[in-house]
Amino acid sequence: MTNRENARKNRRKRREKRKKIVLFACVLMSFLIIKGCGLNTSNQQNPGEQDAGKEVNLVSKEKEAKKEKQAKVEEEKRAIAKNSNHINAASKYAYDTKEIRDMMTGKIESDGKKVAFLTFDDGPNNKITPQILDTLDKENVPATFFIVGSRVTENVKDVVNRIIKDGHGIALHSFSHDYHKLYPGRSGNTENILEEMNKANEALQNILGKDFSTHVLRFPGGHMSWKNMEGPTEALASNGMEWIDWNCLVGDGERKSVRPTSAAGQLKYVKSTLEQNENKDKAVVLLHDAGNKQLTANALPQIIQYLRDSGYSFGILK
Ligand SMILES: [Zn+2]
Repeated sequence: MTNRENARKNRRKRREKRKKIVLFACVLMSFLIIKGCGLNTSNQQNPGEQDAGKEVNLVSKEKEAKKEKQAKVEEEKRAIAKNSNHINAASKYAYDTKEIRDMMTGKIESDGKKVAFLTFDDGPNNKITPQILDTLDKENVPATFFIVGSRVTENVKDVVNRIIKDGHGIALHSFSHDYHKLYPGRSGNTENILEEMNKANEALQNILGKDFSTHVLRFPGGHMSWKNMEGPTEALASNGMEWIDWNCLVGDGERKSVRPTSAAGQLKYVKSTLEQNENKDKAVVLLHDAGNKQLTANALPQIIQYLRDSGYSFGILK
């Protein structure tokens, strides 16, 4: 082969090599472009999947809204009913004080429904009141607490809040519990009684807020014990306040010579005092939750059991 022929052959070989390279490059590029597009499409959700995603989102949002609504309903139930002595949830077993008093005394006819009202005087404190609340909670029974305003201090803030949150009623039992101030010469003093009840209500508002306001009271010593009570009761009634005494008692506030010294004794006291009544469809039970009334706290489960067995449901006074 001549040199010239050799050179031509080499040029042809180089041309063919270049062609192969270009061809290979084209194939490679095409492959990369297709693959690139493929990657893009695999990243995009198809419309069906997108809708499903939206639906899941919507369902969880609906669930959240429902939960929020339920929480609000619960919160509303636990909130104090405006201008009252109890939470909204307690409204269904809260009874009008004047009506109960009038049924109890036979002034108006009973509606035939047997309802017991456990009423605790002289609290609150951090010793006996929480024990009473524990029992009421365990037994699922509501009660009304007639508190002494001067005892409503920062120290018992949690107990006062718990009384309300647990669904009980709060009523007044004056500010000082001082007989000489309330009934000088054993005679009801309108001005002092009004001032004392308003002051006690304010002490409670300081802890419970302005939605709270109680219209129920019990006179220290009982309305029945004092002279000239028409003036104070009329003045209180014109301020929307009604009083209540009791028609049975555990005897924990009686003089020592007759005061029961055992839980069984307290129970016997309740039975005998309740039986003496002509009108016993409504049982307003006097108990005390002062700091030294351990026996009352101990006897409470038996007293509740007895009232239940006798066909009573339980209510609070409003
Ligand atoms: Zn008292």
